[in-house]
Amino acid sequence: MADECLFCKISAGEIPSEEVYSDENYYAFRDVNPAAPTHILVIPRQHISRVTDASETDRSLMGGLLLAANEVARREGLVEKGLRYVINTNDDGGQTVYHIHLHILGGRPMTWPPG
Ligand code: AMP
Repeated sequence: MADECLFCKISAGEIPSEEVYSDENYYAFRDVNPAAPTHILVIPRQHISRVTDASETDRSLMGGLLLAANEVARREGLVEKGLRYVINTNDDGGQTVYHIHLHILGGRPMTWPPG
C-alpha cells in the first residue's frame, strides 16, 4: 500500500466507497462523479501508479484486471447492450488519481471520439 494513495485507502476500507466487487486482488466501486448511468472503477489492490508503469512481473495482474472488469460488467447487466472500458493515463490522458483504475461506463450509448 502506498502512503497517501486515495485508492489504496479505498481498497483497504480506510475511506468509504460503494463496493460492487471484491476479491483478493481487485476491488470495484462506484465513481463518486458518474459520467454515465453506470460508472464503476476497477482497481488492482496492488499499488501501481499508471498502466504504463506495469512490467513483465505484472502480466497476470494486468490480465486479471480485465477479467475482473468483465465480471463486474456481467453482474451489472452491461454486456449485451455494450459498455466502454477506459484507462486514463498521465496528464494528457486525463488521469487524476495515480493508482491504476479501469473505468467501466455503461447504461447509455457512448460517443466517439472521446473528448
Ligand atoms: P481519472 O481521472 O481517470 O484518474 O479517474 C479518477 C476517478 O476517480 C474520477 O472519475 C473521480 O470521479 C473518481 N473518484 C475520485 N475520488 C473518488 C472517491 N472517493 N470514490 C469514488 N470515486 C472517486
